[in-house]
Amino acid sequence: MTVNRTILEPQRELPVAGAYDVVVAGGGPGGIAAAVAAARAGAKTLLLERYGFLGGIATAGWVDLLLGISPAATGEMVVGGVFRELVDGMADLGCARPFDEGVKSGRIPFEPEAFKLVADALVLGSGADLLLHSNVGEVIVEGDRLRAIVLEGKSGARAVEAKVFVDATGDADLVARAGARWEMGRPGDGRVQAMSLIMQMGGLDVERVPTRGGADDAEAKALMREAMLRGLRAYRWATPELSPDLRQDSLAFNVTHLSGNPIDAGDLTRAEVQGRRDAWEIGRWMQETVPGMERAHLQLTAHMVGVRESRCMVGIETVTGEDVVTGRKREDAIARCTFGLDVHCPMAHTGPEAVQVGGVACRATCRKKDCVMFTRYPEYLPRQGHTGERSWYDIPYGALVCADLRNLLACGRCLSADHLAMASLRVMGPAMATGQAAGEAAAMAAPDGDAGAVNVAELQRRLRDCGAAI
Ligand SMILES: Cc1cc2nc3c(=O)[nH]c(=O)nc-3n(C[C@H](O)[C@H](O)[C@H](O)COP(=O)(O)OP(=O)(O)OC[C@H]3O[C@@H](n4cnc5c(N)ncnc54)[C@H](O)[C@@H]3O)c2cc1C
Repeated sequence: MTVNRTILEPQRELPVAGAYDVVVAGGGPGGIAAAVAAARAGAKTLLLERYGFLGGIATAGWVDLLLGISPAATGEMVVGGVFRELVDGMADLGCARPFDEGVKSGRIPFEPEAFKLVADALVLGSGADLLLHSNVGEVIVEGDRLRAIVLEGKSGARAVEAKVFVDATGDADLVARAGARWEMGRPGDGRVQAMSLIMQMGGLDVERVPTRGGADDAEAKALMREAMLRGLRAYRWATPELSPDLRQDSLAFNVTHLSGNPIDAGDLTRAEVQGRRDAWEIGRWMQETVPGMERAHLQLTAHMVGVRESRCMVGIETVTGEDVVTGRKREDAIARCTFGLDVHCPMAHTGPEAVQVGGVACRATCRKKDCVMFTRYPEYLPRQGHTGERSWYDIPYGALVCADLRNLLACGRCLSADHLAMASLRVMGPAMATGQAAGEAAAMAAPDGDAGAVNVAELQRRLRDCGAAI
C-alpha cells in the first residue's frame, strides 16, 4: 500500500482509563518479566498486550525452546529471577524441561500453551493489572516526557497515563510513536534478519522421527538438501528438540525463511501468505519423505510470522557486536547474555539458493559475495559466530534507558543494540533478564519519572535479591 496523501485527524477528547506508576507495553517474555518486577517492587503497574494471550514470539510465534540460559561450555546460569519462575511453573505442569537440567544443557524445550497459562498467573499474582486486546496507538508527549499511551482496541480509543513507561513491544512501537530515535537493520541497506513462520506437524510416530544430533538427523538433512535443490522453499532441515520431559506426539519446525520489513503491514502480509504456502508444501514433503511422518499432518502454523529483528531504541548506551565477541563485562551490568552472533541472512534464501550460499547465517564464510555486507561492510561480517556459547557478556543499564525521553525504558528485542549485538540479545533468556531489570528500574524511577537518575548499584542489589544472575 503506497501512502501518497494525508488527511487531517480532528482533535478528540479521550477518556483516561487509568493512571499508573508504570505501564509496560507488550506482553512477550520481556514485558512479562518487566510487569512482574515493577508490580512486586510496589509500583502500580499495567501490562498491555495486543493479542488475547501473553508470550509474544514464544506463544504467538510458537517458538518452543528457551535459549540464552548458560554458556554450553560451562553450564553457568546467566539468567534467573522471573525467567526461572516461569520455567518452574511450566515444569510443574510437566510442560518444560526442569530449570537445573536446562542450565546444564543450555536449552529448555517447553509447551507454548503452558507458557500462556503460567505467564497469566505470574503477572496477575504479582499484583499488576493486565489488559489484553489492547494495541498501543498514538502517544501523548509533553516536553521530554511521555505522558500517556492511547490504546486502540475493542473498547475504543482510551488514554492510559503513567510516570514511567517500558517499551516491550519487540518492535519499539512506543519509542517510534513517541518520536524518540531508533535504528533498524544492518548497515548499508537497513535490511533485518529473515522472519520464519513456525509450523507444527501432528500425528507423528515420534520414536522413528530423526533425533537432534543423531545419525538419522544427518540423513534427514541430506534428504532436505536434495529437495531444496529441486525447489522446495525451506531454508534447512531442523530437527526439533525431543525431550523426555514433554509429551511430544507433535513437533514444531523452524524451516521457513521470509524476507521483508517487519514494521510494514504490506510486507508482513506477504510474509504470512508466503509462509503458509511454504509450510503446506514442506509438510507434504515431510509426509512423503521423513521416517515417522508418513501419517503426519500440518496441525498449525504460528499465529504470526516470527520477527527476529526490527527497531531498536537509541539508548544512552548501546550494546555492540564487539561486546558480544569479546565477552565484555561492565560495572553497570543489569543482565547477562550468552548467545552467539546468529544473524539469519536478511536475504532469506530458500530452496536451491540456500544450498548454494552454504548456510543460513550471515557470516564471512558465505559464498554469495555480491551483497552489501561484502561490497561495503566486510569488517562487519560475523567471523566468530558463537563466541557467546563459550562465555557471556554484560548488558549495561544505559542500554535500557531512552536517550530522548526521560521516563521511557525498553527491554528485550527493542533495547539499544546494534544489528550484530541484537543477533545475540534477541533470544528469550536475555529478553526476560532485561525485562526484569527494566521493570525494577521503572518502579525505582516512578517517583521522579526519570529513568536516567536510577541508582544503578541499588538496582543491581535489588535484582540480585530477586534471584537475577548479575
Ligand atoms: C522464528 C524465530 C525463532 C526463534 N527461536 C528462538 C529460540 O529457539 N529460543 C529463544 O530463546 N528465542 C528464539 N527466538 C527469539 C525470541 O523468541 C524473541 O526474540 C523474544 O520472544 C523476544 O522477546 P520480547 O518480549 O522482546 O519480544 P516479543 O516476543 O516479540 O514480544 C512483544 C510483545 O509485544 C506485543 N506487541 C507488539 N506491538 C504491540 C503494540 N503496538 N501494542 C501492544 N502490544 C504489542 C506483541 O504481541 C508481543 O506479545 C526466535 C525468534 C523467532 C522469530
